[in-house]
Amino acid sequence: MTNTLNTEHFWMPFTANRQFKSRPRMLVSASGMHYTTDDGRRILDGTAGLWCVNAGHCHPKITEAIRRQAAELDYAPTFQMGHPKAFEAASALVSIAPEGLDRVFFCNDGSEAVDSALKIALAYHQVRGNGSRTRLIGRERAYHGVGFGGIAVGGMAGNRKHFGPTLAGADHLRHTLDIARNAFSRGQPEHGAEIADELEQRLLALHDPSTVAAVIVEPIQGSTGVIIPPKGYLQRLRTLCDQYSILLIFDEVITGFGRLGAPFGSQYFGITPDMIICAKGLTNAAVPMGAVLVRREIHDAFMSAAPENSIEFYHGYTYSGHPLAAAAAIAAIDVYKSKGMFERAASMAPYWEEAVHNLRGLPYVKDIRNLGMVCGIELDPVPGKPGARAFDVFLRCFWEKNVLIRTTGDIIALSPPLIIERTQIDQLLEAIADVLKSQKSVPDTHSMAA
Ligand code: PMP
Repeated sequence: MTNTLNTEHFWMPFTANRQFKSRPRMLVSASGMHYTTDDGRRILDGTAGLWCVNAGHCHPKITEAIRRQAAELDYAPTFQMGHPKAFEAASALVSIAPEGLDRVFFCNDGSEAVDSALKIALAYHQVRGNGSRTRLIGRERAYHGVGFGGIAVGGMAGNRKHFGPTLAGADHLRHTLDIARNAFSRGQPEHGAEIADELEQRLLALHDPSTVAAVIVEPIQGSTGVIIPPKGYLQRLRTLCDQYSILLIFDEVITGFGRLGAPFGSQYFGITPDMIICAKGLTNAAVPMGAVLVRREIHDAFMSAAPENSIEFYHGYTYSGHPLAAAAAIAAIDVYKSKGMFERAASMAPYWEEAVHNLRGLPYVKDIRNLGMVCGIELDPVPGKPGARAFDVFLRCFWEKNVLIRTTGDIIALSPPLIIERTQIDQLLEAIADVLKSQKSVPDTHSMAA
């Protein structure tokens, strides 16, 4: 099929376009744990697409809900209008959210949800008369999507370098990866809670705390290599944010919808932020959708502060709460709940942990870290070729072993659909082990951390 496909026109995102087109990797259908390629191979999905197809591909209940919705109401305007499915989807989301986060703002993906949350934080302080709180604090190695707000608070210099100035006043705390002290940790690492204290040092030494609007963190930093928070670290951030009246935002685009064996990372870690950003698994990725879950008091500040105003928060999208996305979200959340998928992930996690740590000792394996149904396997870099070894493993897994993994820099990131069976976990990790054992030299493949 690829032979007849015109690949001239599509400018692919996050892809080395020229290299891709010399040997395209095409997925043409999917079901459950597998993709099918254009040359008819079944590929075991070790990444749930891009951390998003948590209930498995083309889940019949979700597919059917979208089909029905498309025939019933395709679109409703988002100005001064509503439609029932958006309200139902918000209630469904709240039904699995931490207590108190019960107001939902919809958007279309994770990047929009990040920018929406940052705007809510800034506007919230303003409507309460604290307009001087404009500074946003993220972390090094954070990924918060590709909007201008997201790249400003994100900690990946490469994602900013071509785009000129972004948000003024964004600052970044250190990330928590510390292989020297925490190599091969199982679950949350022991060392590093004190890294959170840097927030207080910054507040006191550099920034007047009354200029800071929000701190935004991914409970697990996923896209930059599965960095798991040390024990006590997130708790410490929560305490400091409370102490200085700063909003704490969790970007749960990856950790939401069961990845850690609870609906959200927030419940897993037992820490309630002021806002949760989610996307991906919200619709099981079948239709794009993002959302910001907001603590009720934040929402109420907008309701009470602007009675003369018919539009309390000047923000939104043509497709906020789109009927097809809303229908998919209602169905996906129903599937997660009725099939006990969060509990299933929690009960599979110990097997997963054991299986991924069995790769310890194989050639080039420098660190392995895991939590819930996610893991990162960090490889020794090839001198002068950052990311090349992991990318080569990715290519060989795809072409020779029929398994899909993801790499970011020198790290392999795995996050299978939550329906994965033990035998499939074994197949996935055996494939990686075989490739590592037979890795001799690394060809000049192009690597791309996306
Ligand atoms: N935040 C986090 C934590 C993410 O992992 C991602 C995507 N990987 C995003 C935001 C951006 O989401 P999207 O690609 O849907 O815009």
